[in-house]
Order: sequence, then structure tokens, then C-alpha cells
Amino acid sequence: MNFPCNQCGWCCQNLDKNKVYAALDRGDGTCKWFDIANKSCTIYESRPTICNIDAMHESYFSDLDYDEYIALNISVCQSVQIEHQLPLIQI
Ligand code: SF4
Ligand code: SF4
Repeated sequence: MNFPCNQCGWCCQNLDKNKVYAALDRGDGTCKWFDIANKSCTIYESRPTICNIDAMHESYFSDLDYDEYIALNISVCQSVQIEHQLPLIQI
């Protein structure tokens, strides 16, 4: 299973909801590397590990079954989708 991101960009605009992203927050919850017009990460290829689902699994959560880990990430993503009234991404 791969993570089915629809690139809505809202996770990169809600960094204030988790302290681990504080260094990326420009002060209003949006990442300083986020391009709002294009809803994209301007440093995607070199983004921090905390922004990379597969790298996080490999480095910190490898004891979790990969599909279970992806499902947990999807549930968090869906809560963002609900908050912004977007169609839910599906497993
Ligand atoms: S909130 Fe979910 S679907 Fe939207 S960009 Fe982030 S990971 Fe992708
Ligand atoms: S570095 Fe890129 S992926 Fe990470 S929060 Fe910022 S814009 Fe999003």
C-alpha cells in the first residue's frame, strides 16, 4: 500500500498542530517552504525526514507493519480533509 496523497496541501498549512514541525512554521501554521499558489513543497526532494512518510517508517517506525503505519497516517490525513471539507482520501 502506498500513501494516497491528493496534494491538497493542508498538512503543510497546519504545522502549529504539532510541535515537531515548529522549526518549519513561518508563524501562522504554514511552512516557510510551502508554495501556496501551487500547493507544493519547494524543497520536496530534500524535505525533512518528518515530512517523508516512507523515511519516517524506515528511520523510526519500522517495528510497525507498513500497511498499518500507512493506515494511521491516512486517518490523520482524513481528519485534515474533514476540517477543510474536502473529499476524503481512501485506502
Ligand atoms: S493533508 Fe493529506 S492529502 Fe493533503 S497534502 Fe497532506 S498528506 Fe496529502
Ligand atoms: S518542508 Fe515541504 S513537505 Fe514539509 S511541511 Fe514544509 S512544505 Fe510541507
